[in-house]
Formats: sequence, structure tokens, C-alpha cells
Amino acid sequence: MQIHKGNIITSASYDELRIIEQGYIVVKDGFIEDVSDTLKPEYEKETLIDHKEKLILPAFCDLHMHAPQYPQRGIGMDCLLFDWLSGYTFPQESNYKDIQYAKSVYARLVREFLRQGSFHLSLFTTIHYDACDLLYKMLKEAGLYAYTGLVNMDRNSPDYYVDETAVSLEKTERFICEHLGDEKVKPILTPRFAPTCSRPLMEGLGKLAEKYDVGVQTHLVESKAEAAWAKELYPEFASDGEIYEALGLLKGSGPKIFAHVIFPTETEERILKEYNGISVHCPDATSNIIAGIMPSAAMQKKGLKIALGSDVGGGHFLGIYRQIARAAQISKMKQFYEPEHDKIELANAFYMATVNGGSIFDRVGKLEKGYRFNALVVDDMLDEEYHTSLSDALERFCYIGDERNIAERYIDGKKIDPDEVYERLLKV
Ligand SMILES: [Zn+2]
Repeated sequence: MQIHKGNIITSASYDELRIIEQGYIVVKDGFIEDVSDTLKPEYEKETLIDHKEKLILPAFCDLHMHAPQYPQRGIGMDCLLFDWLSGYTFPQESNYKDIQYAKSVYARLVREFLRQGSFHLSLFTTIHYDACDLLYKMLKEAGLYAYTGLVNMDRNSPDYYVDETAVSLEKTERFICEHLGDEKVKPILTPRFAPTCSRPLMEGLGKLAEKYDVGVQTHLVESKAEAAWAKELYPEFASDGEIYEALGLLKGSGPKIFAHVIFPTETEERILKEYNGISVHCPDATSNIIAGIMPSAAMQKKGLKIALGSDVGGGHFLGIYRQIARAAQISKMKQFYEPEHDKIELANAFYMATVNGGSIFDRVGKLEKGYRFNALVVDDMLDEEYHTSLSDALERFCYIGDERNIAERYIDGKKIDPDEVYERLLKV
């Protein structure tokens, strides 16, 4: 048993933070047994770790990220989506046929997730089985919580980076079969997006969703051009979202994760609600290459669930705390140009990055009794002269902090050293 003492910040609700100044978190076997402002007498003899003025936060969730794009972050940002895919992303992703390339990138990436405090993930990979399998093993070795899957593409892709339909389905089924059943790292269907997936491929994936009861992650109405192209290629369906519903991809009980959702129609909203879908807001990526802002406040009001994603390499920075700040920033831009939209505040975006993101995993995303102690110990961000409140400290960390301000990291109650884990990843 361990007792952590410090300034605790977690979400009380979508609108409100729960802040306990100099509070105590009792952790037993990786789970939180008690959170309070005084230490109960029965715990007085247990080991106490005093984090002093530092903040104790729940670890973050990154529900949309492309693992293979880690080396290209911050490059090609003058492009819009399709030029960025053909000019930068597809050539770069094709490198993962070389397992040594994959090993070098994925080991550094997994270390960076640990450094940045993103312990709950949903990751795209590439079409290459061995590289995808390697990433899975590294995530396991690092003790992270994740969904990941082999990317499906059988058309509208370059000759050097495309699968035949049957091959794509066969590899996907093999990946699911070999990785099903783990508690922390789970397979998920990963069709890139409707334009790169033929109807027979989508139908095949729909059968796998039902057969293995797995979820799906993809991009949905991410740009006007993408939504229009999807409709042109699937004229039999009313919208992008209906393709996934009609062809059976939402039949499994696993999570349904949709990146961007910038232009949801009534059909998409119905589908998101009916299948308990989670929309992933990626503010950096939508500013960089996608050109649109998710109507997040309006979607939230309609009862739709929103999480945050770094979407590296469309996004350029891996830390989700910065996406919390960016979500608040760009919501004000949206409100300026479209005054009917409400803005998002820091507490709202923090909730998306922890509680909503955590909802697809088992008991993560809050510092509350019964939850796993997946947590970060963060500098109080105080200026020597100008003292602020604890909610200000969280805000400042999101805006100007980085991984150097994260002093300690805990997964399942155990303290993690990213560099020590990295050494082990190289041996996977
Ligand atoms: Zn993406």
C-alpha cells in the first residue's frame, strides 16, 4: 500500500474540476482505495510519498494517433490532407516494411508516450503485419493501455503502399486472432478511411467485427473533400458514417472511435449516439492539414462523447495536455466566425482528455476510489513572485508546460522510468 500526498486535480464533471489541496490518495494493488483531504487513522502507518506542492493528475488519453507518422511530425504542414498524404505520409509509412526502421521508431515513440504522460491510447499503424505486431509487443512491454490494428487500404493508394482485398482481410484476421484476449492492449479494426477501402473490403471487415466482437477506429467526415469523396465512391449510402453502419463494422462490442468528425450530418449524429461512438477532437491536426473545427460544444450538448487526440503526424506534438489548451483556443476561433457556437473551457477539455478518453478502457481517467492509479506528478508551475491557484497551475501546464515538468509517472500504481523502459523495448 502507498499513500501519495500532494495537490490533487481530477474532473468532478464535464464543467468542474475537483481540486484537493494537500490531499491524500491511498493506492493498494494498483487501484485507488481512498481520496481525501485528511489521512484516515487506519492508513497512518503506511508508506507516505510526499509530492509537496506538485500536482497529482490522472494520466492522459490519446485516442487518435498514427504510430508510423512519429518521424514526420512538424513536416509538410503547408499542405492540405490529400497532398500531405501523397507527398509525405504514404511514402514515409511504406518504410515500415523494414522491421529495423519500425523498431527504431516505435521504441522511441513508446518512450515518448511515457514521457508525455499519455498512458491510454488508440493507435493506427501501417499495412505491414510484422511492424504492427512489434508495436503491439512494445505497448505490452511498456505496460500501456491501448487499442491498435493493422491499417486497411486496397484502393486509391500508391502502388508501393496498398494491399489486395483478400490479403488485407487475411492479415487483419490473423492480427486479431493472435492478439485477442489481453486485458491492456487490444486489437481494433482500422480501415484508414472510406476512400481507400473498397466495398468488399469493408464488408469483410464487417464480418470480422461480428465474428470477433471487436471495435473499429477510422476517420469520419474529417474534411469537406473527404466526405464528398466518400459519398461519390459509395453513392448507395447517405453519408460517410452510414457506410460503416450498413456494412457491419459497428457490430462488435469494442469501442467505435471516429477521428475528427468536423462535419457531422444528422445521420452521423444518430450513429454516434446509437452505437455509443466516441468522436476524437484533434485540434492541432485540424489546424494544420484538415482545415475545419469540430463543433465540439454543440456535439457535447447533444450528448455525444468527445475525446482528444494528438493525431501525430497531422498534429505536430504528442503531449495531450497541449491539445487541452488548443481545444480551448480554437473553440474561440470557431465562436468568432460562427457566433452560434459555444466555446470550450479548460475544465471541459481536461474532462475529454481524461474521463471521456478513459471510458473505452477499464477504470482509468479519474483519481477516484476504484480507479487505477495511472497518474502524473507535475510541477506546480508557480512563478517565484506571482502565485496562482491550483486550477491556474493546471492551465499553465497545459499551455506552456512540457514533459520536463512531469516529475513522476505511475501506471497501475507502479512508478515508471521511460528511459529504463526504452532499454527493454530495444530487446523486444
Ligand atoms: Zn488521423
